[in-house]
Amino acid sequence: MNDTRDTVILGSGCAGLTAAIYTARASLNPLVLEGHEPGGQLSMTTLVENFPGFPEGIQGPELVANMKTQATRFGASFQLAHIHFADLTKHPYTLHTSVGNISTRTLIIASGASARWLGLPSEQALIGHGVSSCATCDGFFFRGKEIAVVGGGDSAMEEALFLTRFATKVTLLHRRSHFRASKIMLDRVIAHPSIELRANTVIEEVLGVEEKEVKGVRLRDVTTHCEDVLPVSGLFLGIGHEPNAKAFKGQIDLDSEGYIRTTDNVFTTLDGKIVPGVFACGDVQDRRYRQAITAAGSGCAAALEAEKFLEERAH
Ligand code: NAP
Repeated sequence: MNDTRDTVILGSGCAGLTAAIYTARASLNPLVLEGHEPGGQLSMTTLVENFPGFPEGIQGPELVANMKTQATRFGASFQLAHIHFADLTKHPYTLHTSVGNISTRTLIIASGASARWLGLPSEQALIGHGVSSCATCDGFFFRGKEIAVVGGGDSAMEEALFLTRFATKVTLLHRRSHFRASKIMLDRVIAHPSIELRANTVIEEVLGVEEKEVKGVRLRDVTTHCEDVLPVSGLFLGIGHEPNAKAFKGQIDLDSEGYIRTTDNVFTTLDGKIVPGVFACGDVQDRRYRQAITAAGSGCAAALEAEKFLEERAH
């Protein structure tokens, strides 16, 4: 095993990179393990128009690339690796990773959450070309168009309602007849004149792979088995997110959906007691806002707490 590091950051999205900038400027020489999706969810979006400081907007991949350059300038190092398991029973902590074991005094978990996808090859081929999992990020591009949203929970309802600001018509597709969304959200959707609900409907294929833009979706009614094509220019997935926290099961507290529980925003716990030197930030602990700027904010807070922890231990 290499020498013990002051700080290891898991994840290279907005939260992890902000934590890297702050800890690097504090001379902690952070090591960032970039994870399965380097750059995080921003690397999969197009224009980001709501990150303060960019009045004309900025491309998501460019924003994360800039953050990485900024962190590197202050001495952060990066490794393409992911974690298998973290042993938090003994300090300094041992991380079992795809590039071997790493020992660290502080750990900042910024491993994010990944949108769930249907898993259809045509869907995967059209991500960023009309298929999106983020209405807030990409809805604007569908002004005056017809689109479809998939899902039967609150996220799908929220996306469908939000997208009516831009789209002329939103068709909400759900695989069952029962919706798990809260009544209030479902009632709003049902009452909305621009939203049509289609229950018992699954997507068989997203059309437009050759043209590199969504042309429609081929649907199947699961009760009648009849197929038809719905012509739409966009498809939004609202079928939930999976927090990337499985490596910490049993080591720190997770909530019923697998998100890391934190107190005061960034402190992790085990059975309700703070785990010293282990912090979580960004979407892996935020099921509520899930915005780039809130992720950056909590990344900053985690870095400041890691610095404080090390300083207190040094005296
Ligand atoms: P969710 O409640 O787990 O709902 C996911 C939906 O996607 C379900 O209807 C599910 O169908 C469907 N689904 C999952 N995998 C699918 C697949 N492969 N193909 C087709 N459909 C699929 O997730 P969520 O809507 O993201 O909500 C997560 C939590 O956040 C909930 O507690 C929710 O209340 C909360 N939330 C609240 C708000 C709000 O209050 N404003 C907004 C967003 C989220 P089935 O029903 O058939 O399983």
